[in-house]
Amino acid sequence: MKRYFGIYGGQFVSETLIRVLKELEEAFREFKKDKKANEELKNYLKNYAGRPTPLYFAKNLSSSLNTRIFIKREDLLHSGAHKLNNTLGQIILAKFMGKKRIVAETGAGQHGVATATAAALLGMECVVYMGKKDAERQRPNLLRMKLLGAEVRIVNKGSMTLKSAINEALRDWVKNVKTTHYLIGSVVGPYPFPSIVAYFQSVIGKEAKRQILKMEGALPDSVIACVGGGSNAIGIFSGFINDKNVELYGIEAGGESLELGKHSAALTKGRVGILHGAISYLLQDEFGQISKVHSISAGLDYPGVGPQHSYLKDTGRVKYDVCFDKEAIEGFKLLSRLEGIIPALESSHVLGYLIKNKHKFQNKTIIVNLSGRGDKDLPIIENIGLFDDINKQLVNL
Ligand SMILES: *Cc1c(COP(=O)(O)O)cnc(C)c1O
Repeated sequence: MKRYFGIYGGQFVSETLIRVLKELEEAFREFKKDKKANEELKNYLKNYAGRPTPLYFAKNLSSSLNTRIFIKREDLLHSGAHKLNNTLGQIILAKFMGKKRIVAETGAGQHGVATATAAALLGMECVVYMGKKDAERQRPNLLRMKLLGAEVRIVNKGSMTLKSAINEALRDWVKNVKTTHYLIGSVVGPYPFPSIVAYFQSVIGKEAKRQILKMEGALPDSVIACVGGGSNAIGIFSGFINDKNVELYGIEAGGESLELGKHSAALTKGRVGILHGAISYLLQDEFGQISKVHSISAGLDYPGVGPQHSYLKDTGRVKYDVCFDKEAIEGFKLLSRLEGIIPALESSHVLGYLIKNKHKFQNKTIIVNLSGRGDKDLPIIENIGLFDDINKQLVNL
């Protein structure tokens, strides 16, 4: 486990938290060696969450783009995205540490729902902090969390979005650390969180490697994933990172425009700074204030990125690029039409990128990490007019 990836990462937190993080680091080391705890996790991943997820050869999409595309189906994981790998893992870790209570923050609500899901399953008390603005914008996820038995505390301070929710969750954690584990949702935050989340998501890469070798008898040319905080990408990359001939691509949200600053491309457009207790690339103004971010997909709407990605960018091992909102929508439509799979808007960034750059991938074998399913995104798609024809018919009847 690495405290730093190159110059990135670290623990830029108060002294009280340093002690708490040390305790977490030690417990996690023990957890990794503990047969019983790991068996428990494996069992839930298999029988509850539905692992291994399939690696599916997308025949129609492949012939349309003149490539060979294999889709890693994290959209089929229970609750509809890869996030459950991490929340199940961390809640079993919390139990292992003797904790009885989970706190988390959520922006779009997807991490809150995945946390509440695993907490319900494992009988943990669960408190989720959510900014007032986000709670209003993401009402279905708010209701899901309530149904799953979580206590949602609406934060009516500061920006009333993710940033204020993080502050409140951290405050709660410091105050109640004896009983409480703080469950971070991506490979971000102070050490050891990026390593813990990467460990729990590495199951994606392990499976994908085993599956492609079995199906193809060879490694793929490229592996591509979308990057918000970066956990699904680190998860699948970890299976291939030591295979130097496998090209790795991380796709960020280009939003509406890079020039106008309406995006959330921390690696492509950010500068090095400190956010959530770690050094990484992040979007900030000339005074170091965190910038407003924009993406059509709520899950990519984050001003920073995990420290390991910053390192992988600098070393050149992973190529990072952007996909714009409009291109992601093309990807969303194409996969739905050609394969009968409605992808999450987050994952659609990978498909949009492939469509735009298809010349680069001619006849190549590619693994696409499909991080989640897109049912949740239908209201957004409706807003941009995709269903105008059917709505018109209904009005005219
Ligand atoms: C949350 C989410 C993401 C972004 O998070 P990462 O940590 O970058 O993986 C991507 N896709 C889906 C479906 C999500 O829910």
